[in-house]
Amino acid sequence: MTSGTPDQGLRANLARLEAQQLYRRRRIQEAPQGPHGMVDGRPVLSFCSNDYLGLAAHPKVVAALQSGADHWGVGSGAAHLVNGHSAAHHRLEEALAELTGRPRALLFSTGYMANLGVITALAGRGDTVFEDRLNHASLLDAALLSRARLKRYPHADAAGLARMLAEGSAQLIATDGVFSMDGDLAPLPALAATSREAGAWLLVDDAHGLGVLGRGGRGSPDHFGLGLDEVPILMGTLGKAFGTFGAFVAGSEALIETLIQSARSYIYTTATPPALAAATLEAIAIAEREDWRREHLSALITRFREGATQLGLALTASPTPIQPLLAGSAARALAWSQALERAGILVTAIRPPTVPSGTARLRITFSAAHSQADVDQLLDALSRLPALDA
Ligand code: PMP
Repeated sequence: MTSGTPDQGLRANLARLEAQQLYRRRRIQEAPQGPHGMVDGRPVLSFCSNDYLGLAAHPKVVAALQSGADHWGVGSGAAHLVNGHSAAHHRLEEALAELTGRPRALLFSTGYMANLGVITALAGRGDTVFEDRLNHASLLDAALLSRARLKRYPHADAAGLARMLAEGSAQLIATDGVFSMDGDLAPLPALAATSREAGAWLLVDDAHGLGVLGRGGRGSPDHFGLGLDEVPILMGTLGKAFGTFGAFVAGSEALIETLIQSARSYIYTTATPPALAAATLEAIAIAEREDWRREHLSALITRFREGATQLGLALTASPTPIQPLLAGSAARALAWSQALERAGILVTAIRPPTVPSGTARLRITFSAAHSQADVDQLLDALSRLPALDA
């Protein structure tokens, strides 16, 4: 308990965060998303965006947003179930269903809201939801909001999950497809088999796999050759590889209709701007047809991993554009991030509570908009970091 006024209490908490090197500060970006940005008036080479395919500032996507605004105006005006559901939203849902090979898809305003909506619609008091312990915060928060019992299984451990399931029933199992802070893939074939055996829903949050993995960017289930039967609920976001904003859930007709009837974060919120849907349609078409973006990204990841190994850096098992460098303490992650920034390179330090205590890290992300020379510049700066091997 902190004594004094409520505001003094807040200030004391903030001072404690600062002392523990856990205080988070926003950086003001002064240029469009892309590797070459401007922060605090200085040019930087950035490795922290989720714009994996380099579409956020693609001229055709920008033009689609502009002509979408000319046609639709800016705001959607209402929730989808009132009169905010435009023909552009509808076409986007159809395109997302087709891309993911699912009968239907439903747009949500954000990935956070999609996860809240789907889990609270399908699980409730008396149910049990099982989640990977490193799942994204929105999946964990959704289970808490649902009032179901939340059980967290060891990271990427389907056998561990099966052992926990032997002690009771499960309504829903949820996992990131690609783990957002580690970049590794969930063992989807084993999780699919386990959830089927348990008679539970399997929800895969593919925020970081969609657009990047699978045929034409269909995501991590497709990467493993899994379809609707194995992964009945696929959640994807639009603000990462597709470079725009928003999210969706794809699945069966009955699932989507159920979400429309009962997902509160779908029903009680304003639909995203229709022009955004028009821009996303363009981004999806580019992402699907331009395989070279995924191929180039993959070559950049290989180049980075080879170079980092030569430097003796400790890499994780990630095959994706998310390549974390573990620092351990928050202070060290912050010192590394600051040293890189002095060299003109922007990489965010990720600290608790976003990651478990003692696993603070640099979260390096690559984009198809990076060049091989950009990767070399990063490696050169990393080679000069203080006490990397300590
Ligand atoms: N799931 C995962 C795995 C994420 O990384 C994120 C975004 N960081 C979200 C969900 C939330 O998506 P949105 O940003 O669209 O709310």
